[in-house]
Amino acid sequence: MTMIQTDAVVIGAGPVGLFQAFQLGLLGLQAHLVDVLPEPGGQCVALYPDKPIYDIPGLPVCTGRELSAQLLAQAAPFLKADTTTGLAPLHLGEQVMRLEVDDTLPLGPFRFHVHTSTGTHLAARAVFVAAGAGAFVPKTLPIPGMQASAPAWNLHHHLPAVGQQAPWAGAHLVIAGGGDEALQSVLDILAQPSDQHPAQLTLLHRRDQFQAEATLQSQVRALIDTGRIDLTLGVPEACETTDSLGLIALRLAAAQGVTRLPLDHLLVRLGMSPKLGPLSDWGLALDRKQVSVNPATFESNVPGIYAVGDINTYPGKKRLLLCGFHEATLAAHAASLALNPDEPQHLLYTTTSPLLHRRLGLT
Ligand SMILES: Cc1cc2nc3c(=O)[nH]c(=O)nc-3n(C[C@H](O)[C@H](O)[C@H](O)COP(=O)(O)OP(=O)(O)OC[C@H]3O[C@@H](n4cnc5c(N)ncnc54)[C@H](O)[C@@H]3O)c2cc1C
Repeated sequence: MTMIQTDAVVIGAGPVGLFQAFQLGLLGLQAHLVDVLPEPGGQCVALYPDKPIYDIPGLPVCTGRELSAQLLAQAAPFLKADTTTGLAPLHLGEQVMRLEVDDTLPLGPFRFHVHTSTGTHLAARAVFVAAGAGAFVPKTLPIPGMQASAPAWNLHHHLPAVGQQAPWAGAHLVIAGGGDEALQSVLDILAQPSDQHPAQLTLLHRRDQFQAEATLQSQVRALIDTGRIDLTLGVPEACETTDSLGLIALRLAAAQGVTRLPLDHLLVRLGMSPKLGPLSDWGLALDRKQVSVNPATFESNVPGIYAVGDINTYPGKKRLLLCGFHEATLAAHAASLALNPDEPQHLLYTTTSPLLHRRLGLT
């Protein structure tokens, strides 16, 4: 894998990371965004995609997914694929594992080296940690062979991103879980065009009671009662795999003894847990798992590394979207000044500045 050079790396493509890329773009700084999730949006998409948000200025109400889509559209002028390499500066499904600082270099050159779980190596002049509560890692079944880090090809923890083919179309899909995520997945999968539907859909849960919102429960119960989906009760104890077919069955402890549930695809929907993970090894000063920052610049104790959004802490910190957007704006301006100390830093308005219009691709 070749090294990609960029002005900035933004770790986390949640709402604040997306807005960070936008603000950097306005200031003429190219950013590459990295997120372990298969789609951008962070908590808004992973935890509350369909719930309403009422406190974004100028937007009386929008859902988590809608806000994320708008932030992505806003940042789009700065997330275009490179015309020579064809590479887009949005790296999804990749966890940042290592962040190295070349202390022999001053601020300005590519002194930061960011390495991801899929081997991407980004060299940057500044780093913005927008990692929220940490990398969202899906919870998996506590049996051998289920680790999300080394999955069988037919073991899934996420729904396909918008526009992607459903891998289980025409096959037998088992969804494990009995909470909001699992039940919502059943509805989302059946809301797709029929050529994307599994031939058979089984919901697997340990007991005949769900822990989900009442409306979700009644919709899924109706599907079970009318035979559109199957409900299997049992606790997975082991899985069966073959080299060529991947997962082929689960063995379950059930009321009637040990049973076998054959399957073509398994979608585990037990929720997400944020893991601070490698971030704790990057030499950043932490205060109760948050990165301590200067609230004028949002710079951490390491010059050139900024932290914005839910991951940071400073006196008066509030974990709100609005606060994260403010932090991203000031952090971008601070980085622009630090990287280009000899250039005048004028405050420009998007309404009136021809330079900003050019950067936004409007002229
Ligand atoms: C149920 C709920 C409702 C909420 N409602 C509101 C509301 O009404 N108003 C409001 O203002 N706020 C609300 N919030 C809070 C708001 O969602 C957060 O403040 C916001 O999501 C923080 O954004 P962020 O970008 O900092 O972090 P996140 O949204 O957490 O995004 C961080 C991203 O970084 C990624 N990441 C972390 N570490 C790594 C790594 N090492 N490598 C790659 N990727 C990594 C994660 O996978 C994640 O996608 C709500 C939160 C919840 C849970």
